[in-house]
Amino acid sequence: MSSAPLPVISNFIRTIIDADLASGKHRSIVTRFPPEPNGYLHVGHAKSICLNFGLAQDYQGKCNLRFDDTNPEKESEEYAQSIQDDVRWLGFQWDGEVRWASDYFEQLYQYAVELIQKGLAYVDDLTPEQMREYRGTLTRAGKNSPYRERSVAENLGLFARMRGGEFADGSRVLRAKIDMASGNINMRDPAIYRIRRVHHIRTGDKWCIYPMYDYTHCISDALEGITHSLCTLEFEDHRPLYDWVLDNITIPCHPRQYEFSRLELHYTITSKRKLLQLVNEKHVSGWDDPRMPTIQGMRRRGYTPEGIREFAKRIGISKSDNTVDMAVLESAIREDLEARAPRVMAIVNPLKVVITNFVAGQTESREAGFHPQHPEFGARLVPFNKDIWIEADDFSESPPAGWQRLTVGGEVRLRYSYIMRCDEVIKDAAGNVIELRCSIDAETLGKNPVGRKVKGVIHWLSCTHALPAEIRLYDRLFTVPEPDADKTIDFCTYLNPDSLVTTRGWVEACVKDAIPETRYQFERLGYFCTDRRDHRPGKPVFNRTVTLKDHWAKEQG
Ligand code: ATP
Ligand code: MG
Repeated sequence: MSSAPLPVISNFIRTIIDADLASGKHRSIVTRFPPEPNGYLHVGHAKSICLNFGLAQDYQGKCNLRFDDTNPEKESEEYAQSIQDDVRWLGFQWDGEVRWASDYFEQLYQYAVELIQKGLAYVDDLTPEQMREYRGTLTRAGKNSPYRERSVAENLGLFARMRGGEFADGSRVLRAKIDMASGNINMRDPAIYRIRRVHHIRTGDKWCIYPMYDYTHCISDALEGITHSLCTLEFEDHRPLYDWVLDNITIPCHPRQYEFSRLELHYTITSKRKLLQLVNEKHVSGWDDPRMPTIQGMRRRGYTPEGIREFAKRIGISKSDNTVDMAVLESAIREDLEARAPRVMAIVNPLKVVITNFVAGQTESREAGFHPQHPEFGARLVPFNKDIWIEADDFSESPPAGWQRLTVGGEVRLRYSYIMRCDEVIKDAAGNVIELRCSIDAETLGKNPVGRKVKGVIHWLSCTHALPAEIRLYDRLFTVPEPDADKTIDFCTYLNPDSLVTTRGWVEACVKDAIPETRYQFERLGYFCTDRRDHRPGKPVFNRTVTLKDHWAKEQG
């Protein structure tokens, strides 16, 4: 795949918008992103954010951020704040102030009164169990509640008393009066208000009745003048209810709902409930653990907003299955980092090398550019010394066929420096290689040796100059593509035990002033980012964002 961003690719929603603008149905568009503040946003939400805000940008329309805060037990200010941070970090800005469904509670109440007055809503005293029983099934029609024919006056009185706090939680609900025999269960007199004495993050204890999601959502959309209300496919069967509510109240605007398929990402999970389980059971360090598919996790891992937006473009919008392999996300991130990350050297798994024919105490520095395609990124000096670190994996005493790295008696090029030969291996009592004695060919600085070819190039660091660093090697959180496919098996069974390996390594001294969230390519190793929480200049902590190549593809053949 090329690293140039894709041009705008059309999709069925754009086709609808184009037609609505062409016909004059709308002069401009208004979309919204409507999260419930009951958890942190994940990569699936990123798809929805990029769609809603992206359309508003492309069509010079507006996109609102509206919290669907109708479930006070699960909602918190912390979640609401993190969601706003995430949307901004992804590069989007909502129109005007943040909106809250709770801002409309009074209007929602008045519309419910209007439905009652029209004989289209009633207070029901059935218990939740009875109500389930009366609802029927996919194959069996429901039956009418004995309270369905209450008079308008009685319903108005009861609904006012529900609001007034006269009845116990769960003892009554307000239901829309639609059709208990409807083939669509959502239309079998759905509850639109319930009694619930829970403190609300915005309205406190003002209300003890709360409107239901389906009832709230369509009215909130209409009050905000949303033109295209975009949601995921599981709401397709709710659309008749969305339309029924708006058709039966006095409201000047009737937004249209369109559904697209949810993103399902292989090797991870996209369900807030399951992500919460990972946090609660401490399988990860928190919502922003760099292995989490949350926006906070991806950010801390080092993913870029540009890379995530590019991913959203590549996966597209449609009604067909949107199961995507993690490799698609990783390659979008990798390609973005390839263009923007300065290159430096780092050693993750150090092996000491002593250059026997180099003078102790002497330092020879060579200049190296930070990016081969971007001279404007500048350059730094890479110091060479008698004692250097190399990657332990770059040496093998009994290498496989075709080995181009270091072995006893063999030669490699040290990146930006000399050709070096390994003369001797030093081992500890247990037989582990603890040091190499090597010599350099002084004639090979910036030129090829005479009479022989040396193919391998390895990275290295001067022991005198390198900075110690904590390096966190992150990998996929799960070992199988669909950890939650089998409902009888706990998805945590498939956690990847090697999803985090922490090492003490070394990095080039030129990164010493890096602030948190600074990204680099560590040559030959991958892209790394200084940790948002734990990194301090002088005490560096790097997270591996993504390897240079897709090593999973290779393993799977
Ligand atoms: P979850 O199922 O993880 O709890 P949700 O749908 O309940 O997510 P909301 O806060 O209600 O979370 O979602 C806000 C918006 O994000 C909705 O419009 C929803 O359709 C969309 N969204 C959520 N998950 C995905 C996904 N996997 N792919 C695309 N859009 C999504
Ligand atoms: Mg939801």
